[in-house]
Amino acid sequence: MSKFNPPFVTIPEVRHIRYSGEGAFRRTKDCVFHVRLEQPDSRILRLLQREFPGIPVVGGEAPEGAGYAVSLGASRCGQPADVTGIAVPSSGIEEGYELAVRPERIEVRAVRAAGLFYGLQTLRQLLDTAAGDSLPCADIHDWPDTARRGMHFDFRQTHSRLEKLEEAIAQFARFKINTLLIEYEDKFPFRCDPVLRHPKHAFTEEQLARLLEAAREHYIEVMPLQQTFGHLEYVLRHEAYAPLRETPESTGELCPCKPGSYELLTKMLDEIIAAHPDSPYVHLGCDEVYSLCECETCRERFGGSREAAFIHFVNRMIEYTAARGKQPVIWHDMLDKCPEDLLQTLDPRVAVMIWIYNYRNIEAEVSALTAKFRRLGIDVMGAPAVRCFDWAEHQNYPVAVNRLDNLKQWRDTAAKLDIDCVIGTNWTAAFSLGTPYGIFETTWYVNGYHADVTWNRSGGGEDYIDRFMAVFHGLRPAAVAAKVGRYTNEDYYFIIRHFTEEAVRHRDIAELIAVMHDFEVATDRSRAIHKYAYRWRLYPGDGAERRSLLNNYVRNRSGLQRVRPRMTAVLRRFQPDDMADHYVLSRFYLHDYLNETLYKELGLDETLLPQSHDS
Ligand SMILES: [Zn+2]
Repeated sequence: MSKFNPPFVTIPEVRHIRYSGEGAFRRTKDCVFHVRLEQPDSRILRLLQREFPGIPVVGGEAPEGAGYAVSLGASRCGQPADVTGIAVPSSGIEEGYELAVRPERIEVRAVRAAGLFYGLQTLRQLLDTAAGDSLPCADIHDWPDTARRGMHFDFRQTHSRLEKLEEAIAQFARFKINTLLIEYEDKFPFRCDPVLRHPKHAFTEEQLARLLEAAREHYIEVMPLQQTFGHLEYVLRHEAYAPLRETPESTGELCPCKPGSYELLTKMLDEIIAAHPDSPYVHLGCDEVYSLCECETCRERFGGSREAAFIHFVNRMIEYTAARGKQPVIWHDMLDKCPEDLLQTLDPRVAVMIWIYNYRNIEAEVSALTAKFRRLGIDVMGAPAVRCFDWAEHQNYPVAVNRLDNLKQWRDTAAKLDIDCVIGTNWTAAFSLGTPYGIFETTWYVNGYHADVTWNRSGGGEDYIDRFMAVFHGLRPAAVAAKVGRYTNEDYYFIIRHFTEEAVRHRDIAELIAVMHDFEVATDRSRAIHKYAYRWRLYPGDGAERRSLLNNYVRNRSGLQRVRPRMTAVLRRFQPDDMADHYVLSRFYLHDYLNETLYKELGLDETLLPQSHDS
């Protein structure tokens, strides 16, 4: 069913592998790493200790121009060669590497430290997925297609504990991701006004420093996102800031004409910029500014033009950000229908991130938008989604069929248009006054796909699910097929729940998805209650109708009550307890409400359930 072709299985798929057929490298007890680094980079040494524990590391510095190299072999086999003649083109030199497997040793070589870092990530996956302790002799040459390959932390709703976020960053690096978009909202430790910090879950400055250090440690550049126009519900909800709203009814949008708007946002930007000294970018948000040019001052000043009001304020933010040495970025949607003459007034120092999550014609839409912006000298970035609304409001886990299609269309579009920054957006809610989507850890399968297709635009093929099962869970395709039969890339969320025992790696993710799946089965059933309630109204007092209503109530309510403690327990492994509990309550709220109202009215209550339900 797929071209899954061991012995070497990786995510992302490496670009070139040639098996030489000249024997195999066998790992022995006396293996050591010989390291040669042109410039000292302790991150490489720590990577070796973390990902290959127990293997001693010897060597160190190398002369100028020797590059970065590591060999793995018996201690007598000596130092790796320098990078002379490395088969990586100049376009891939920043992160490309060469990996050679020979009977006596494995050698990884790169011109830059980041390339060596990625080569070692590949080596880790080869050892993880190899059968036994030997690797067949081969030559690998590998480098990325996309310069900036990004994932996304959205902290607006629930998020994982800090140590889980650090683990996620390490996993991003295994997938060769080098950029991380972070939207903090009220989780950022704002100093300008403590009311802007979430009372319980804002990071402390120390925690934020830990998070950013984890990114640096893994060669990941953080792109902080600070909304500066709309989606400011977490600010404008406070009485002190309500006067800055465009209209009293707009909960999320600032009025650009109120003098306090610019002052507040630039103060917040100052703090964001100061906390991210290494980041070349600041994302200014600016999507979905619904209330625009509605107040009297704006209407007069901008002649009733929403676009003119938008560009005026955005230009001030671009100026402010660019003056501080950062590349400003905004979402594209507010400029979507902007007439050309007005668009020409947009400060071209901004980069526009095009986010399109659905529809069949991504290539056509993105091509038209890209041409429009590039004509004005404006740089373009891409944003598919690894998780967004789709047709499943709760998003307990992503709708794989939509997400993979979206990512695949973006892969081809980015290739055609040469878009060199593509971020897999991963939303935790529709907006900040919403309820949480499924938790971050349910998105690894889709994240891996995004990593696969941004590193290597030939990736993302039909064998992806097999490679993911092998690399991420340690499961071979034959074992998967033996249990679940036929499957395709789109089936991950339906099959992984069967491997909560067998998964060698990330068993906790399999358990998490299994619980979410069981919850969905239980809620799908309980939605049918209205049919039985309706029939009871149609045939009041009928014995058979009563029995049918009762049977359904017992089955559905028991199913829900059984999954509730499991859901709480599994979520608390990833998230702070009260965030996990908030998630559970959000899922059960309506069911509990119906239990207290409609069901009670129909004479149904939990005393009718078998006793075992609360075990
Ligand atoms: Zn206004």
